[in-house]
Amino acid sequence: MLLIFGLRTRSERLGLAPMVCRVCNHSGGMLLVREITRFSLFFVPLFRVRTKHALHCTNPLCGARTEIGAGEARRLLAASPR
Ligand SMILES: [Zn+2]
Repeated sequence: MLLIFGLRTRSERLGLAPMVCRVCNHSGGMLLVREITRFSLFFVPLFRVRTKHALHCTNPLCGARTEIGAGEARRLLAASPR
């Protein structure tokens, strides 16, 4: 019997956080992203394996990625303007 399984990571954009990039000092805000990795069997996602939050610099010349914790992501989302 052939089993096809694997991990797939999808990114969800949560919003813009009003921050200055630590790498390039760009002040246009950082994109807050949630990255969810799911275990899939026969290309059907079954359950979450891990969830990460990260900030991506919106400067196209920089694009720096900084991992943050879930608590800090919630705090940034609550503070970001809608
Ligand atoms: Zn940057």
